[in-house]
Amino acid sequence: MSERRQLTYFVRTFGCQMNFHDSERIAGLLESRGYRAAESPETADLVVFNTCAVREHAGDRLYGHLGHLASLKRERPEFRIAVGGCQAQMDRERLLVKASHVDVVFGTHNLASLPDLLERVELTGRPQAEILEETEAFPSCLPSKRERSFRAWVTVSKGCDNTCTFCVVPALRGPETSRRPEEVLAEIEGLVADGVVEVTLLGQNVNSYGHDLSGRVKFSDLLRSLGGAEGLRRVRFTSPHPKDFPEETIRAIAETPNVCEHVHLPLQSGSDEVLRAMRRSYRAQRYLRLVESLRNAVPDLALTTDLIVGFPGETERDFADTLRVVEASRFDAAYTFIYSPRPGTPAASMNNQVAPGVIQERFARLVELVERLGLEANRPLVGRIFEVLVEEVSIKNPDRLSGRTRSNKLVHFPKRDGIGAGGFVQVRIDRATPHYLVGEAVERGRNPEGTASGEAVDRGRNPEGTASGEAGAAAVSAGEVSR
Ligand code: SF4
Repeated sequence: MSERRQLTYFVRTFGCQMNFHDSERIAGLLESRGYRAAESPETADLVVFNTCAVREHAGDRLYGHLGHLASLKRERPEFRIAVGGCQAQMDRERLLVKASHVDVVFGTHNLASLPDLLERVELTGRPQAEILEETEAFPSCLPSKRERSFRAWVTVSKGCDNTCTFCVVPALRGPETSRRPEEVLAEIEGLVADGVVEVTLLGQNVNSYGHDLSGRVKFSDLLRSLGGAEGLRRVRFTSPHPKDFPEETIRAIAETPNVCEHVHLPLQSGSDEVLRAMRRSYRAQRYLRLVESLRNAVPDLALTTDLIVGFPGETERDFADTLRVVEASRFDAAYTFIYSPRPGTPAASMNNQVAPGVIQERFARLVELVERLGLEANRPLVGRIFEVLVEEVSIKNPDRLSGRTRSNKLVHFPKRDGIGAGGFVQVRIDRATPHYLVGEAVERGRNPEGTASGEAVDRGRNPEGTASGEAGAAAVSAGEVSR
């Protein structure tokens, strides 16, 4: 690594949006130090793993990837491997023992240290590990290399004050810390000036934003303050907690024109007993009342959720409660997870773990219900016209473009001249599936540079001027998406 030629890097990311956002910062940091992106791990001088300790088997997958790179390291001793993120924070000692060819281990709180740690490896010839227990800098304060030029994630808070018994986040990301609103707004203004038209506000418990700040700052105020940001067409946020959803937040979603009609509201379980064991402080009836309030206030709302099957102690009756609440909530899509014990969490040592065969059978029933509800939400959209923000050429069909409605529906439609990534276009829906829609562009909308090239597109309203009624969402997990 002491050569003067430009070094290259490859970042592999596991886990949640927070991690993908952190990876953009890692890429930005490395590029600010002269690195450039490589096409693959095999052709890179440096591979960075940004890891997850929440998702099932994430640790096994990491060690599998690291094992694969061991032969590269033998062939090219100057090849560098860095591991950061939640798994690194949790597994720091074991990592350097189990994968002795790793050069740098860094935690969730000190992304910014990565370039310096790499330099220290060159100076000392020894692996470097640095894990901090508290946030050094918000990742949003670091340079960034965004995956898409027209869309950005903005961290508004980090960490979590809740104690859900299945979750490692409080232990790994620390207590909740919010950024000052003026800092968030300044970042968003900069992004918009740079061509960003959609931002997603990120926080582990995003809607409790501000409770740790002086001056009674609230999440609803933050949403409303973004309503006036000229050029910012879409505002999303993830993930909110059902217990932190006062009426004023619901009103802010309903009344702020650029806040999209999509809420991802983790339910986890529909059983009060299981919710209690999970230490989730709402109960099924309260959740359903919240769903009703949201749907009443935001008629075009798309609602998605997270569900865990087979939490310790879950009985058939508890599971039936989950099916009942899912059906009553009419979710448009759901991330469904099979419970897997995460080391260090209270649930991992509960002695009433559910047999894997029972969990599999319940999981299959839940997925079947979620698919049916997804299709039921999507079918009524056929024949209607929606504003779509174009994201990319479809992965499966190069003659198609893919994009998302305000309600986060994935839409595929045939390519047309003048329409490209970052542009807005009106699409008529011709076909619905549980996870995506297929349609046809009916006018050009806006070109990728953001200058009007067709009729102006009003927020989520169809050409007749009536509410677009995007009563669906496509927050489908990767792998479920058909392209
Ligand atoms: Fe984890 Fe619960 Fe906090 Fe979400 S709210 S990050 S599940 S502890």
